[in-house]
Amino acid sequence: MNRPPSEASQRAAERREREDAAPRIHTVLPRLASLRLEIDERTAGGGQAGAAHIRRIVVEHAPALFLLACGDSACRDGGHDITLPVMRALDRGETRFDGEDACRGSIGSGYCSRIVHWVGVATFNP
Ligand SMILES: [Zn+2]
Repeated sequence: MNRPPSEASQRAAERREREDAAPRIHTVLPRLASLRLEIDERTAGGGQAGAAHIRRIVVEHAPALFLLACGDSACRDGGHDITLPVMRALDRGETRFDGEDACRGSIGSGYCSRIVHWVGVATFNP
């Protein structure tokens, strides 16, 4: 019997599709040599939610698409799309930039209150 795909695997498939459809970073920003994102997540109250982590982007192959999952496992339809601010900063040639994004997902009948803070560190070829 075929069970319908779980919500999580369906979401992962959608994400892969978006990643495949997005242009490669290298095509858009050929001068970009390296990029990493330092990500930490907070609750609305300002508390630290989970450990900060670093995501290294393989600029030769990675899509120009930056999607962060919400760290709250109870969150539905949450997550953060930081593609626009990241690509804008890289386009300006910034080597260090940061931003914040509030999750728009929902938990139970309320809203998810997670806030992600990210720092981008980039290097460029001369
Ligand atoms: Zn969330």
